[in-house]
Amino acid sequence: MTNPVVDLRSDTVTQPSPGMRAAMAAAPLGDDVFGDDPSVNALQDKIAGMLGFEAALFVPTGTQSNLCAILSHCQRGDEYIVGQMQHCYRWEGGGAAVFGSVQPQPLDHQSDGTLALADIEAAVKPDDPHFARSRLLALENTLGGKLLPMAYIEQATQLARRLGLSRHLDGARLFNAAVAQSAGTGADPRSEARRIAQCFDSVSVCFSKGLGAPVGSALCGSKEYIARARRVRKMAGGAMRQSGMLAAAAAYALDHQVERLAQDHALARRLAEGLAGIEGLQVEAPHTNIVFVDLVGPAKERSAALLKHLADQGVLAVGLYRLRFVTHLDVSAAGIERAIGAIRGFFGA
Ligand SMILES: *Cc1c(COP(=O)(O)O)cnc(C)c1O
Repeated sequence: MTNPVVDLRSDTVTQPSPGMRAAMAAAPLGDDVFGDDPSVNALQDKIAGMLGFEAALFVPTGTQSNLCAILSHCQRGDEYIVGQMQHCYRWEGGGAAVFGSVQPQPLDHQSDGTLALADIEAAVKPDDPHFARSRLLALENTLGGKLLPMAYIEQATQLARRLGLSRHLDGARLFNAAVAQSAGTGADPRSEARRIAQCFDSVSVCFSKGLGAPVGSALCGSKEYIARARRVRKMAGGAMRQSGMLAAAAAYALDHQVERLAQDHALARRLAEGLAGIEGLQVEAPHTNIVFVDLVGPAKERSAALLKHLADQGVLAVGLYRLRFVTHLDVSAAGIERAIGAIRGFFGA
């Protein structure tokens, strides 16, 4: 038998587990546009309750969730302050500007992924007709797999409140952050997720990444805010019908696949350790489930060749700007050893 592919391109590649498929098949359904899909309603109540919000909205993707979030905080001619590398600035086709006429004000990140408090404060514009109205601070946790320090999140969100900005968290991987933050402290990852979320006015969470659902994200906020987001979702074409089948997968993920994220983090650490000391490779120690690797020195131009070598051996990764290896529930310890072996083989190490 040939070895299965070790797919480290993203934590979005996961297949629904048998238990998740059973939950999907058994889900009671209705028409969610009429508000009467019981499985969608149950999921929205569950995630809002877990994170300490009044309400939540189930949406098809994280991108649409962020779009609904920004367009529900901001009007045309407003701006949101955001990091250069954040998904809702860099990786969503400029949606908030394209669809909402909301201008981003991107800031450079510090080396730990944070936005300097002084930079946030300096970016807020005076109330004057020359300027867009600064309305919102958007943060992301984890950011490219990096855990933002809790103390920083508290400071940045308190500063935003003082500056009159609303606060949005792109928590596509919030549960990875919560699991990493609770590691070794005895804290419950679910209460850590809530502690992080409670610093914000709105939080977006993806079910289709490490949590292992096939589709879906949720946006959480106040009742009144989520009512506005529901209008944006409709305009964006994201109001679905018997979407309870998808919501049931997400609910299953929340019930069964949160704590296990620690295994993905352990495998990411093992991968980073296994690649240590290879000449030409610079490996960033992972906080969570994403390992970034840079080729340096004479190896610098070899990333396409490395990716091809790996693919030939059934190990998939991406190299959009840095090489990226993402662990998830369909990656085993044996798969990680194979990836390490294949990379070492390429370098003759
Ligand atoms: C993946 C991701 C999104 C977008 O999710 P999609 O479901 O792919 O649209 C948003 N934010 C972050 C941080 C992400 O990693």
